[in-house]
Amino acid sequence: MQDKLTLMIPGPTPVPETVLKALGRHPIGHRSAEFQSIVERTTKQLQWLHQTTNDVLTITGSGTAAMEAGIINTLSRGDKVICGDNGKFGERWVKVAKAYGLEVQVLKAKWGQPLNTNDFRQLLETDTNKEIKAVILTHSETSTGVINDLETISKHVLNHGHAITIADCVTSIGACNIPMNDWGIDVIASGSQKGYMMPPGLSFIAMSKRAWKFNEISNLPKFYLDLKPYKKTSDKNSNPYTPAVNLYFALEAALTMMQTEGLQSIFARHARHREAVHAGMKAIGLQIFSEEGYGSPAITAISPQNIDAEQLRKEVKEKFDILLAGGQDHLKGKVFRIGHLGFVNDRDVLTAVAAIEATLGDLGINNVKTGAGVAATAEILQKR
Ligand SMILES: *Cc1c(COP(=O)(O)O)cnc(C)c1O
Repeated sequence: MQDKLTLMIPGPTPVPETVLKALGRHPIGHRSAEFQSIVERTTKQLQWLHQTTNDVLTITGSGTAAMEAGIINTLSRGDKVICGDNGKFGERWVKVAKAYGLEVQVLKAKWGQPLNTNDFRQLLETDTNKEIKAVILTHSETSTGVINDLETISKHVLNHGHAITIADCVTSIGACNIPMNDWGIDVIASGSQKGYMMPPGLSFIAMSKRAWKFNEISNLPKFYLDLKPYKKTSDKNSNPYTPAVNLYFALEAALTMMQTEGLQSIFARHARHREAVHAGMKAIGLQIFSEEGYGSPAITAISPQNIDAEQLRKEVKEKFDILLAGGQDHLKGKVFRIGHLGFVNDRDVLTAVAAIEATLGDLGINNVKTGAGVAATAEILQKR
């Protein structure tokens, strides 16, 4: 049905009416006092979201721009780094690091499994010459629905004493607790079309004091993503280049909504929706792809054995106007993914489960009692 499509993919995510309305006005001059006050307020709001006093800079670009900025602004050619890789976005980190000539040691885990924190601890503990400059990883691995133990890994990095932690928190910020200061994370990359309840177009990069120290000697080539001009102008509530002015209107509206809801409520909502989706899928007889206990609060990957996941997705979209995500690379057709990130409420989760259940019934491959998934989901949702 026209205009009825509900996005339940891990970005772009649904955008609230208030945020859409904020977008729909004339752009204003980006050197105006009005715009500067928006930059001032959104910067404070971003620090609130990151639970930090560190700089949080806004770049016009997608999440990958912030990832790339994180690497090129802290590291130097030939630096030794450890990259965690347990999915598509871990792979992306490896590619970016290699593109800039870093010496990359990859710590892999199978897709669906979390990164092994002990692998990181061992490498860091045995690095007595302090050659490792950075540990780079994805917090919520969107391709597999796995949440990695960023807290423990960043602790191991702190114990090392020299390396910094660079984290892709693109689908975890605004979904679960990431106290940047308390955990001692040095660089956090994220993007507007995920937990921020905004359209795509802005990316955010948080930089610790240690990250700025690394920046002083970093010699990788950079220009648009050179963070020094962003920092210099951000201190004066401005931007080095023309920012996506209207997206800043949306950013302020979205972050204000988030502040009204409160961090703890936002985290609790995402945790509840993860639980509800897991319970619903299991009740239908479908398998959760991620290792038990490591489900991302933002996205759930499901491997429906003997069922073509693409066929299921297509039917759910056609019949119910709900867009689910497919599997990436070798998982194409083998998994589908339900995004429950950002502007998602209990109704969205309940209807997604119901739509999947009904579609399986239509396809003649549901061998459990119809309604079992909805019942299991509703039971979790009632608990709040
Ligand atoms: C979406 C996403 C990104 C960024 O992708 P862009 O398309 O560049 O915005 C990075 N990491 C993860 C884990 C993501 O889910």
